[in-house]
Order: sequence, then C-alpha cells, then structure tokens
Amino acid sequence: MVTYSPILKKQQSFFRTEKTKDLSFRIDALEKLRSKIKANEQPLMDALRTDLNKSEFDAYTTEIMIVLEEIKFTINHLQSWAKPRKVKTPITHIGSSSYIYPEPYGVTLIIAPWNYPFQLAVAPLIGAIAAGNCAVIKPSELTPTTSEVFAKLIPEIFPEEYIAVVQGGVETSQALLEEKFDYIFFTGSVPVGKVIMEAAAKNLTPVTLELGGKSPCIVHEDANLKLAAKRIAWGKFVNAGQTCVAPDYLYLHKGIKARFLQFFQKAIKELYGEKPLENQNFTRIVSERHFQRLCSFLDNGELLIGGNTNQERLIIEPTVLTEITWEHPIMQDEIFGPILPVLEYESIEDAIVGIDNHPKPLALYLFSESESIQKKVLNQITFGGGCINDTVYHLGSPHLPFGGVGTSGIGSYHGKGSFDTFSHEKSILKQTTRFDLPFRYPNLKDGLNKIKKFIK
Ligand code: NAD
Repeated sequence: MVTYSPILKKQQSFFRTEKTKDLSFRIDALEKLRSKIKANEQPLMDALRTDLNKSEFDAYTTEIMIVLEEIKFTINHLQSWAKPRKVKTPITHIGSSSYIYPEPYGVTLIIAPWNYPFQLAVAPLIGAIAAGNCAVIKPSELTPTTSEVFAKLIPEIFPEEYIAVVQGGVETSQALLEEKFDYIFFTGSVPVGKVIMEAAAKNLTPVTLELGGKSPCIVHEDANLKLAAKRIAWGKFVNAGQTCVAPDYLYLHKGIKARFLQFFQKAIKELYGEKPLENQNFTRIVSERHFQRLCSFLDNGELLIGGNTNQERLIIEPTVLTEITWEHPIMQDEIFGPILPVLEYESIEDAIVGIDNHPKPLALYLFSESESIQKKVLNQITFGGGCINDTVYHLGSPHLPFGGVGTSGIGSYHGKGSFDTFSHEKSILKQTTRFDLPFRYPNLKDGLNKIKKFIK
C-alpha cells in the first residue's frame, strides 16, 4: 500500500515552524485561495459540467459563490475569532484571571464526497486554514475532472508542506487513514462515516462527520401551498436530488395533499420545462451504479409525476411517487436522487411519531404558518438543522453552524463554526504571585469549617 507518511512528516515540520499560526499568514492564504478560485471560475464550471452536467448557474451558485462568500466572511471576522478570550473567574479562584486560547490542531485530513465536489473540499479547507492548520485533502474519485482541476490549482498557491491534495479512491482514503492526523474532517455517507470513526479511534483522533440520511419535508394544512411547492421542488431537484440536505420525502397533510401536488407539478414544469429529460441543464446522476439504484425505486407505490429516464445520459426526470409506506424499498435509505416519495398524515402528532421512529435526520423542513405547529415540531424532533417555510437555505448562512446529529453526523461547520471545529480551545488560568490564599491547603487550622462557611 502507498504510504503518505512523507507528506505528513513534511506538514508536521512545517506546522512546527509556527508560520501557520501567524494571523497575517492565514489571511494571506485565504486571500490567495479566493483569488485563485475567482480566476478559475470557468475551468471549474466546465469541470462540473463534465462530471455532473451541472449548469453554469448551479455550479456558480452552489459551488463557487458559496465558498467565495465564506472566505470573505472568514477574513472579515478572523481577527476577533482568533483572539484569546478573557472569561469570568469564580470567587474561589480569587487573584487569578481566566482565558481561552484557540489553537490549531496541527495536521488535518479532509475527505470530500462527489455531490458538490468543489464546495465540499474547499469549505472545510477554509476552516482549517483560518484556524492555523496544515491540511491534506482527498477529493472524490467519482468526479475526476473537478478533482483534477482542484488538484492543479492548490499547488499553484500553496506548498505541499502546508496544503496538499491527494487524489484517489477508497484505497487512497484507507492509506491516509493509516496515518496519525491531528484532526479528521469527513463528508460522505453514513456507512463510510463509521469506517472513518473506527480508523480515527485507533489514534483517538478527533473527527467531524458530515453525513446524510433521510430528511423529511412536512407540509401542514395551513401552509402557503403554492410557495411551498416551488421551494420544495427547487430544494429537491437542484443537483438532481444529490444534495445531502435535499428533502428526501414529503410528509403531506391529508387535507391538502391533492391540491399541493397540483401546485408541485406546475412548479416542476416552471423550473425544468415540459420535458425535463430534454433540458440540457438538468444535472445527471453521478454513475451508472447510482442510476440503476435509483431506477429500481420507480415501481414503488404509484407514479404520479415524471418517471422517465435516459440511461445513456444518466438522467432521471423529477419524479413523484404516491401511495408510499415506510415499508417500501425507497423508504429504507437516503434516496440521493430526483425521486420524491409522498407519505401522508392526519394529525401532526402522527408525522412526528413517524419521523421520530427513524434515525435523526440531517435536515427537516416544515411548511406551516402556525407558530404552535412550528414550536411542536422543533421541540419534539431532533435533527441537524433545517428551515421553516423553506428548504436547503439554512446551509448557506455563515451564522448557522451546519451539521448532523446521531447517525446524520457529529460536529458542525460554516462561518465561526468552521473556525471552532478546526481549533482546540486551550483553557488557561493565570494566577497571582502577590498572595497565596491559605484555604486551598490541607494544613489550615479548622480549614474544612472555614471553607464550608465561605461556600455556604
Ligand atoms: P462516500 O461515503 O461513498 O464517499 C465519501 C468519501 O469517502 C470519498 O472521498 C471516498 O473516496 C471516500 N471513501 C469511500 N469509501 C471509503 C472507505 N471504505 N474508506 C475510506 N474512505 C472511503 O460518499 P459519497 O457517495 O461521495 O457522497 C454521498 C453521501 O455523502 C451521501 O450520503 C450524502 O448525504 C453525504 N453528504 C453529506 C454532506 C454533509 O454535509 N452532511 C454533504 C454532502 C454529502
């Protein structure tokens, strides 16, 4: 097996020079990254078109713009995030003061998936750089053109001893995991997340796991149905449903089901045309294997919308299946494609129980005008994050840490969340030498009583 210890050793010694801890070095690195991306928008959009048939609009908004904005936000706030913070000191520690020093972990490993192959390699890298770390990034092998562009751009701005890109598939990941990194940031599927955590456990390496799962989308009877239909259609079918936070399935209130689905059919037509298979801007399925996996769901329940496919171009048109139950194959795992199954409920409690009987979702979306319904769902269901009356948009806010809970992930990032994820918080108590309180020592006369009186 190939070994990556030479890269690791180089990065470890570069980290020891303390250059990466210098704030101006970090800001300079982020600026270089931003300029390099800006200068290469076209090659990146072309690569995303080749790998996934992403339209320029989608490639720019969901992969390039999002990281450019994240870099800008990080540069603007880095100085205040990186400063040691003075915190309170309890009366029992009189004479001392307390501080938290954020410090980088050291050499970090970032493993990225294929669905947003550029964004999901760069977004964690921004956090790693901001916090003062070195990084080895392994982009996905399933989007080779984008990974190739990425692997060409990074060495043009950073030496390998600081930031390195290692290309390859599962064996490469496994060889990297043999090394002792100081932090591992993984984005990908739940089963591989378990493999990563097991490998990390051998060295007690801390991890962030950005995973997936089935994210429900509830439409309650009082929702603005027309708007809900448009926002859900976009959130589900952008990137052909290959989005970790795409609504995985719809949970519709029985009373509005038929009306909502009419609006939904219209929304799909407005977004993707009468014949989505002929829309040259509809993202394709990443591989033949995933295409076949998705096609096997098309006979579940009743086909209401779509269902046409093009095997040669690996395109599946926006599809809606009704008469679905939890027992259908499509309800067993994350769908990760443009097929939307519909469940229905009579009372919101039934929907809550249905969702709660399954692993904790990465995202949840609720469409309802009622504050009490919103409160009920937020209070009763645990999930990574989500939106009320929208889909997917929470992911784009740098003020909202993004991540899962339970099987949908461990940890979070974006904005300050990324800086915090890639930083260890070192707690320091600075003690005075001007006096020395006698209470702390066991030889104080009547010490215990005095302490008890003091504590009361
Ligand atoms: P994946 O888990 O198959 O692969 C992710 C990465 O892990 C790739 O770089 C791959 O080479 C590597 N890998 C695969 N098998 C491995 C193994 N046995 N050992 C070590 N490394 C291995 O995921 P994917 O198919 O690329 O991406 C889709 C999944 O990612 C979906 O489940 C989706 O929900 C999830 N995802 C989550 C987020 C998030 O932010 N939470 C974002 C995007 C995708």
